[in-house]
Amino acid sequence: MWSFKYWRRRRILAGSAVSQEEWKQAEESLPLLEGLTDDERRRLREWATLFLHEKSLESVQGLVLDSEAARRIALQACLPILNLDFDWLRGWASVIIYPDAFVVDHEEMDSAGVVHRIREARSGESWDRGPLIISSTDVDAGRRRDGYNVILHEVAHKLDALNGVADGFPPLHGDMPREAWTRAFTRAFEDINQKLDAGHETPLDPYAAETPEEFFAVATEAFFEIPEVLAGAYPDVFEQLARFYRVWPLKMP
Ligand SMILES: [Zn+2]
Repeated sequence: MWSFKYWRRRRILAGSAVSQEEWKQAEESLPLLEGLTDDERRRLREWATLFLHEKSLESVQGLVLDSEAARRIALQACLPILNLDFDWLRGWASVIIYPDAFVVDHEEMDSAGVVHRIREARSGESWDRGPLIISSTDVDAGRRRDGYNVILHEVAHKLDALNGVADGFPPLHGDMPREAWTRAFTRAFEDINQKLDAGHETPLDPYAAETPEEFFAVATEAFFEIPEVLAGAYPDVFEQLARFYRVWPLKMP
């Protein structure tokens, strides 16, 4: 069936000036993509081409973003939707890249109801319907395969927010029972909080213990970067993410 959407996408892909060699160079600098098959690589390049066409990448505070860095950002941002569809990245238009961690002011209410003005440094941020904001330093740090990847983290928040607010409960596919998702994530969230309270080491970045949405974003980083660690610590969460992303990044026993 003819579809305007696919016709338009084919035109964008056909008009792209990026050569396969240039994509290959960007891919080779990202250990995260090592395990992809040729077919997956081809699809990821297509999503990344659409990404560079649809989203504006804006570097601020004097940062100069070269085109290979832009391709690296696009490839990583599209990895979570590799087996979904580009439509999953709808609803926001730009990526803002700071040279380094940036400072944000916000207000927070404590348990006594007192509002505090807080100033803190962040490596990434995602506003509902707003831009995806990342720092270049953290993007570079994310190239190691260590479970830390600010782009995957912020894109996870974007996917999470597709059904309203980011709350750790993204729109699930029709064949995914809500109860299984909630059970897996609630147990793991409680577990990491207990470990943290007891002063024990946590299998994921302790930031995951902050809120359910941060748990989902941190678990997404681990799922793509260090799947064996996530599968070992929280196999049910791993399985839910594999169903959600439609990716099976390692062989399960
Ligand atoms: Zn976050």
